[in-house]
Amino acid sequence: MSTATTDNSGGRVVGERVMVDVQGLEKSFGDNHVLTGITDQIREREVVCVIGPSGSGKSTFLRCLNRLEEATSGTVQVGDYDLTDPQVDINKVRRHIGMVFQQFNLFPHMTVAENIMLAPVELGNLTKPEARKRAEELLDRVGLADKADARPASLSGGQKQRVAIARSLAMSPKIMLFDEATSALDPEMVGEVLQVIRDLAAEGMTMVLVTHEMGFAREVADRVLFMDGGKIVESGTPSEIFDHPQQPRLQEFLSKVL
Ligand code: ADP
Ligand code: MG
Repeated sequence: MSTATTDNSGGRVVGERVMVDVQGLEKSFGDNHVLTGITDQIREREVVCVIGPSGSGKSTFLRCLNRLEEATSGTVQVGDYDLTDPQVDINKVRRHIGMVFQQFNLFPHMTVAENIMLAPVELGNLTKPEARKRAEELLDRVGLADKADARPASLSGGQKQRVAIARSLAMSPKIMLFDEATSALDPEMVGEVLQVIRDLAAEGMTMVLVTHEMGFAREVADRVLFMDGGKIVESGTPSEIFDHPQQPRLQEFLSKVL
């Protein structure tokens, strides 16, 4: 399965280096065996979209990639770090992994810029003036240069999500994880957030996106993973997944969502 030959690269070249290496990942919540054996490798600059029915384990899989959930068995390696090693400094690892959720989780009592400055200043990566400058650059990048001193409450959902993305980028992550980043948005605001993600892809950011936006997955992904029942049932290029699905479960899923 080649990931370098899709039409979606836009000049981007998927790297040779493996950024995420998941081997035999299983996760149970009590008796609920949610991830039943996941093995996959994601390479540098690769954009991977994860699709599948509700409850199939997509969020749990994503959360295992920054240890918001701990694996029951198997290994998860991100960059140089083995997340399943109890010795690993997880806070250090998480600085390299940005995550954007359906809910924006911005601090309401802080301005937009302060929200973005918080982590780099608290962790001692940047001085306050440096962090302010970085926040302004990032806001410009997500099309919100004029909102630095606004409060989150004054922003639309799409604007809030773009701030949340800028906040994640403030730590200069090596990889970005998105869990249904557009699902809570009014339809007219989905496009502006997808555009920011599209720009990140063009800049070569390694990304894993759980999404319901099949058109977007087809457009932006180098590779699509279809999950069902806690497994990756099929993995392939957008054309392989959407135009030539092999597994009956994927065919059935697509017949409902397309
Ligand atoms: P998806 O994102 O594909 O909809 P999830 O990963 O959210 O699926 O959930 C898969 C299954 O794991 C569901 O049965 C859900 O109830 C269960 N689950 C997810 N998170 C937890 C948790 N923190 N505690 C208990 N069960 C959970
Ligand atoms: Mg989910």
